[in-house]
Formats: sequence, C-alpha cells, structure tokens
Amino acid sequence: MSTRDAVVVGSGPNGLAAALTLARAGLTVDVYEGAADAGGGCRTQELTLPGYLHDVCSAVHPLATASPFFRGCDLDTRGARFCTPPIAFAHPLDGGRAAAVAGSVHETAARLGPDASTYRRLFAPLVRDAQRILGSVLVPFRRPPAHPVALARFGLAGLLPAERLARRFDTDEARALVAGAAAHAMLPLSDPLTGAMALLLTMLAHSVGWPVVEGGSARIVEALVTELEELGGRVITGRWVTDLREIPDARALLLDVSPRGLVELAGERITPRYRRALERFRYGPGVCKVDWALDGPVPWEAPECHQAGTVHVGGTMAEVARSESEVASGRHPELPFCLVAQPGVVDPSRAPPGRRTVWAYCHVPSGSTTDMTERIEAQIERFAPGFRDLVLARATVTAADVERHNPNYVGGDINGGRSTLLQTVFRPTVRWNPYRTPLRGVYLCSASTPPGGGVHGMCGHGAALAALADLRITTRRRTVDGAT
Ligand SMILES: Cc1cc2nc3c(=O)[nH]c(=O)nc-3n(C[C@H](O)[C@H](O)[C@H](O)COP(=O)(O)OP(=O)(O)OC[C@H]3O[C@@H](n4cnc5c(N)ncnc54)[C@H](O)[C@@H]3O)c2cc1C
Repeated sequence: MSTRDAVVVGSGPNGLAAALTLARAGLTVDVYEGAADAGGGCRTQELTLPGYLHDVCSAVHPLATASPFFRGCDLDTRGARFCTPPIAFAHPLDGGRAAAVAGSVHETAARLGPDASTYRRLFAPLVRDAQRILGSVLVPFRRPPAHPVALARFGLAGLLPAERLARRFDTDEARALVAGAAAHAMLPLSDPLTGAMALLLTMLAHSVGWPVVEGGSARIVEALVTELEELGGRVITGRWVTDLREIPDARALLLDVSPRGLVELAGERITPRYRRALERFRYGPGVCKVDWALDGPVPWEAPECHQAGTVHVGGTMAEVARSESEVASGRHPELPFCLVAQPGVVDPSRAPPGRRTVWAYCHVPSGSTTDMTERIEAQIERFAPGFRDLVLARATVTAADVERHNPNYVGGDINGGRSTLLQTVFRPTVRWNPYRTPLRGVYLCSASTPPGGGVHGMCGHGAALAALADLRITTRRRTVDGAT
C-alpha cells in the first residue's frame, strides 16, 4: 500500500501540473500513467525514421508561454527552451499570396493594406491588456473579473461568430487570418464564441508568440517530471487505472481523465445526478494527423510561410468555414482546413542537417476511421508545389487511432470537449467549483475542466488548489492564485 498524500491518475500537462502544485505545497505525490511514457498530449517520438523527432500531439505553445502555472516553473533551466518563429502563423492563399501575423500589431497591420486600421483597432487594446485578459480566461468564471473593462472588450467581440468578426475586414488576407485562428475551436465559424478563439490566439501571437520547444514538446514534460522528482514525487508509467478502488488510500485523488473516463472509473460510487451530468458532456470532432520526414523545408510559394512555425492551410475564409461546417455535419471535407506545424523553422535539432519534420492535422467527424492523408497532402501541395516529392516517410493516425492511443481524446477530440458557450463557462458540469466531484477528496483535473484544451497546466493547477483548500493547506510558494 502507498503511503502517499496524493495520487494523480494521468500524466498529461494537467496531471503533472496538479502533481507539482501539490508537491510544492509539501504533499507526497504519485502519478499513475497508463501509457509507456509520461506526457499525454505533450510527447516527442521518432514516428517516421530514426533521427527525426516528431511531436506526437502538441507542438506549438502560445498557451504554455502565457500560462501563469508554467511561468512559475523553471522550464528553461530544466532543459525546456522555447524558440519563437519570426512569424507566429501564416495563411497562404492561391496565387502565391499569404497573410501573416508577425511581431507587433502595427507590423502585422502594415501588411494588411486597407485593413490595417481595422486590425489595429481590434487588436491593439487586447494586446495592451493581454495579461489582464489572460488572468480571467485561464481560470474558472466564478468571481467578478479583476479587470472588467479589458475583459468586456475581449468578451463582446469574442462572443461573435468568427465569420461575423472576419467580415469587419475587407481583404481576403485579413479575413483568412481570423478564420484560421478561429478554426482551432473545432466548431462551425458561424457559432457564437468562435470569435474568441481568433482573438485569444492572435493576441497571444503578438504578446508571447507561438513558440515551439527546442528538441520537442516532450522537454516540457521532462522538466516538470524532474521538478516533481526533486520534490519526492514519482511517475509510475504503464499503469492503467480501471477502477478507483485500485488506488491506494490518499488524502487527495486527482484524475487527468475525460468525464467519460471518470464515469468508468467511479462506477456506481458517483451520484446518479452527477453521472447524468457527465454523460451529457459533449465532445467535439476528431482529428486525423499526419507526420512527415521531409528531404528539406516545405516549398511554400508564399515567402511568409517559410518563416512561420504554424501555417493555416485551407484557402479563403469561405473555404475554411465550409470545411468546418462540413465536419460539424458529419462529413469529411474534400478540401479540409489543415493546421501545419513546422518546428524546423526555428529548431534544426528535430531532423538531420537539411531535413525537416512537419505535422498537419485536419478536423474530421468524431470517431472517424478515415485516413485523410491524400486530402491533407493535396491541400499543402496546392500552396507548396513539389511538397510530395520531399516526403521521405510519413505516419498517419485517424481520429479513432488518436482515441486508442489516449482515452482522454474521446472520438479524437483533442480539446477535451466541445468549446460551446455553455461548456466554456461550465466545464464539465454546472458546479461552483468545477474540479470537485461529489466524491470526497476526488477531483477532475483534465482539459475537460476550465480553462479547457491546450498545454497550459491551468486545469491541473486549479484542481490542485481546490484539493489543497479542502485539506486546509496553505500554498507555500510559486502557486498561482485565482483558481481556488
Ligand atoms: C494531434 C494533437 C495536436 C495538438 N496540438 C496542440 C498544440 O500545438 N498546442 C497546444 O497547446 N495543445 C495542443 N494539443 C492539445 C493538448 O495536447 C491537450 O489539450 C493537452 O495535452 C491536455 O492535457 P491533459 O493533461 O488534460 O490531458 P492529456 O495530455 O491527454 O493527458 C492525459 C493522460 O492521462 C492518461 N490516462 C488517461 N486515463 C488514464 C487511466 N485510466 N489510467 C492511467 N492513465 C490514464 C493518458 O494516457 C494521458 O497520458 C494537441 C493535441 C493533439 C492530440
């Protein structure tokens, strides 16, 4: 039997953030991870050829860089160094044109011709207030915001469907930028709140950039595990938990699992009401992802794309919107919107000299078993003729595979649940403290709790603060307030 104070199930960024927050407060912590390696959606592996390092899931880290939790970690000194591409994201259009978000609001606006002043008016106040806005959107919505004016400015524009927000602009370029950033929400661009994703991600592009991690995202996890072990914590891999009764007694149990996973683990022990609420939680579409080992950089026609860590591939706003609404209606788009990550723009260590690793994914209906490789490659080839000739090796996972590798990604949903208005405010259910479950001492800490998907650790950190508050333990150092 363990004599640990706390157990965390799942070692994704949120599980590790929870474990570290507890360990920093003086608790002894064990983390049980089912997979062979720690990290969940933050791992790096040679998926194609020896010497080619691919981020298995997350590659681009504006949220990690902005996260109050991560800013309290000594990631850099523990070997996780962020490298920021000169262009955060680019969006190619037919004819060799591209829109790009780079540097300051003014620098980006200057590239947008007739839309320059609209861009400045929309983003300059948000970027100026970025820290204030982040202080409210990276924690549960419970208290009156500390900076209501800044949050209202963000919220009022963000409540709009992205299509309406994009129509404030006249050029294809500016509209495409909004559509591409909004499509990270994995919702039709006609849905309310999709504007918020575009605003948040563009604001982050200007305030912290969209960095990758030198050597791969796994370095973040290695740094977190190192600190946890320094504090006496342990990560036990290869240990799938199938029932809460398998877990030794501990003062706190934090679960980095989906609501569906919680229902399975808790069985009859949770109240029927809470179970029904968890079963009503809605998951988003899935993704089909392709990793390539390439014999050189992607031969984009538009020069901007060569300097961007992320490229949004899918054409005009209308095309991106069509692709997202097809997915929402259960169809596989012929011309999918694709997110392309090319860490080699700033990190040559990912592949042998002159070579590159690149990944792309597109959204697909939940649970899809369709291999979208052909369609994704055709979209990239459209804006980068000769791309296919560079492919040395590729590895594809369908949405069903994504869930098979990690049960948190239900149906291949990488955001831990649909980001509707309701599920953004109340996640996973309507509760004053979203991390607490009706089971005493048991907390949910995955991306299915606020603030949702992405590598920021704030779900785990918030859940750990709730556990510490219930244990009447005052946090001693480097925990970020605002989530208890
Ligand atoms: C293809 C892809 C690309 C992405 N790109 C980005 C990106 O560029 N930037 C970004 O910020 N985010 C990105 N994300 C999202 C990000 O990876 C996730 O939102 C984040 O990892 C969620 O963290 P988490 O700790 O909640 O869960 P996860 O990272 O999913 O970790 C959960 C862990 O718990 C383990 N587990 C689950 N159930 C059990 C059990 N019963 N017993 C034992 N272990 C269990 C799992 O094996 C897993 O290791 C991407 C995700 C994917 C899949």
